[in-house]
Amino acid sequence: MPEGPEIRIAADKIERAICPYPTTEVFFAFEYLKHFEAELTGCRVTGVEPRGKAMLIHFDNGLSVYSHNQLYGKWMVRKAHDLPETNRQLRFAIHNAKKSALLYSASDIQILSSQAEIENHPFLSKLGPDVLSAGLKPETLQASLKSKKHYRRRLSTLYLDQHFLAGIGNYLRSEILFVARLHPQLRPVDCTDAKLLGLAKDSIEVPYQSYKYKGITNDLDLANQLKADGAGYRDYRHWVFGRTDKPCYSCATPIVKEMVSSRRIYYCPHCQHA
Ligand SMILES: [Zn+2]
Repeated sequence: MPEGPEIRIAADKIERAICPYPTTEVFFAFEYLKHFEAELTGCRVTGVEPRGKAMLIHFDNGLSVYSHNQLYGKWMVRKAHDLPETNRQLRFAIHNAKKSALLYSASDIQILSSQAEIENHPFLSKLGPDVLSAGLKPETLQASLKSKKHYRRRLSTLYLDQHFLAGIGNYLRSEILFVARLHPQLRPVDCTDAKLLGLAKDSIEVPYQSYKYKGITNDLDLANQLKADGAGYRDYRHWVFGRTDKPCYSCATPIVKEMVSSRRIYYCPHCQHA
């Protein structure tokens, strides 16, 4: 399941392909969207905006295409009209003079025609702030952690809740809690204000680093050193995620793996106090 940083990287790739040139053709597989094809042809795409696991493609005529990949959807960027051999069903395509952005298999595609419609959308309106949204401030996130809705929930479950923070998944959950040095079983109510502010900062910085540096959530110098010493990507990428029984990079205590809500979480029992 892709998480915020991977979704943002995919969105960047689509943006680079379709923003520079006006569309020459837009295709929708679903009948109820067909009449928008002409309306979106000859337009420019002004931005590709991930919201959690959904994507908004904004056009300069004021329309936005909402899509949610669920488990099956897949974006591909190709040379213009160079469709790949695949058994997947093409559901939405944007072509310009140079490139095509193709969405396969997704079944949840809608047209939203105003900012109000975006903000009131049943899925989008319930999402928490996107973890990579430029305007997200640590203080805002700290206040959210301290809110009545979140104060008494365990960090392990809160950090998979897209209504709290969109774009966090399994690996980011483990990595953020390690960097913040907080045990997954803690609740915000158990933490000091300073710890919560630290957690809020790490919740923004860890995903951003992952986005910028090929998914690496480990300390970058340490990761480089490990790589120079011959470690593979899997071994130097993360502090704790996927490192069951391996020594913690800070204290050498074996990393523990547990299942929470049937998803695996990793932590250091020494560095992350209960
Ligand atoms: Zn440790």
